[in-house]
Amino acid sequence: MSAVELLGQIRSKWIARVSQDLARGEGIRESFLAQLNRFYDLLLQAVESGNPEWMAPLLNEWAESRTESDLSQREASLYPILNQILLITYQISRAELSPQQGLDLMGSLLPIYLFAFEYIITKEAELYIQHHSEELESSQLALERLDKSKSDFIAVAAHELKTPLTLIEGYASMLREVLPQSNGGSRSEIYLNGIGQGTLRLREIVDDMIDVSIIDNKMLALNFQPVWLNRLLNIVESDVSESAAAREQSLEIMSFEGQDEMTFADPERLYQAFRNVVSNAIKYTPDGGSISITGRKLPGFIEIIVADTGIGINPEDHERIFEKFSRVGNVSLHSSGKIKFKGGGPGLGLPITKGIIEAHGGAIWAESPGYDEKTYPGSKFHILLPVRRKPPDEKFAKLYEPMSESNQTDVKINSRMTEKTR
Ligand code: ADP
Repeated sequence: MSAVELLGQIRSKWIARVSQDLARGEGIRESFLAQLNRFYDLLLQAVESGNPEWMAPLLNEWAESRTESDLSQREASLYPILNQILLITYQISRAELSPQQGLDLMGSLLPIYLFAFEYIITKEAELYIQHHSEELESSQLALERLDKSKSDFIAVAAHELKTPLTLIEGYASMLREVLPQSNGGSRSEIYLNGIGQGTLRLREIVDDMIDVSIIDNKMLALNFQPVWLNRLLNIVESDVSESAAAREQSLEIMSFEGQDEMTFADPERLYQAFRNVVSNAIKYTPDGGSISITGRKLPGFIEIIVADTGIGINPEDHERIFEKFSRVGNVSLHSSGKIKFKGGGPGLGLPITKGIIEAHGGAIWAESPGYDEKTYPGSKFHILLPVRRKPPDEKFAKLYEPMSESNQTDVKINSRMTEKTR
């Protein structure tokens, strides 16, 4: 008897047994019966033609009919069902056919089942990957939406805060004018100074919020001008020296190759970036610690390194600190002061700095062995800036042409000036 005839002989028993074992409940069993009959017909076709691919369309349908929740739980695989069907086929051939017939039948069925297993495994893996990458894509979209609403909120809040802040500043300065002058010791003057300090800090925060939203919306417009990094660093140093002195910290700019070379950059924005990093170094270094600013010349770039002997940063936070509102450390310390040890702030300084440096075509990263408030391992902030001999905008290139040509002379004058001022 041929394998096709043998299959025909056990058909009714096979269908009854598989439907009883695999489908529980009347309703399900009926539709399952139709599916089993299709499976059996295709099995017959595959045996007759010797081509297991006859099974493919039905297996495909079964694999694709699984719901989203089936896909998120790997247990809903068709693999165990197929395994059960193979086992029942074997048991029925043993019970209903002679040993030789059973062997012949299983011999022709095995390659087909093998094909079915392989097909199901590949198809299911494909479907799982597709399902998970769709899930990943939608979580990515949700994250992007969240980040967008976060930066929209910052922009709205900053603009809403600006109006009352301007009012307070205006009334405070009017009050100052109408109050009788004394040497700063009167009560009202002390109160007014308090208001002044508070509004100043609030204005800095509001300005930072506006800067962050400008950077987030990729709207940071740089005003490229000739810049000498040593001059810029000297200005930062003199502006923060009082704060460093108040904390008994030493602050030193080392000389390095390329420090007096001219490059086109936005001096105001670069000042803001360097000031943020140096102010952080002061803030996160204990009293008596030291901060040094050094650099080195690299092909096409200048690298500035701001090093401190402060509390340090854990390696897992090295990237996170550049995200807005990254609250590394104790949240309760936030906004407790601009230079106070671990004074903290809203966590906008480094994201702004990164935005400014990247808008210049540069990069910024942190280096530190870790965070430790006992041993003070310190941190280093590296700022890589491209050296631009010409402004990026062609319109301004003509304007600055003589400057680029006389660059060498300028550099000498400049270095002499710096030596004098330092
Ligand atoms: P903040 O307003 O909190 O200072 P920043 O964006 O300037 O915000 O810095 C983010 C976080 O990075 C800080 O809260 C601090 O935890 C960490 N950080 C920045 N600079 C240093 C540094 N020099 N040493 C140690 N930690 C630092």
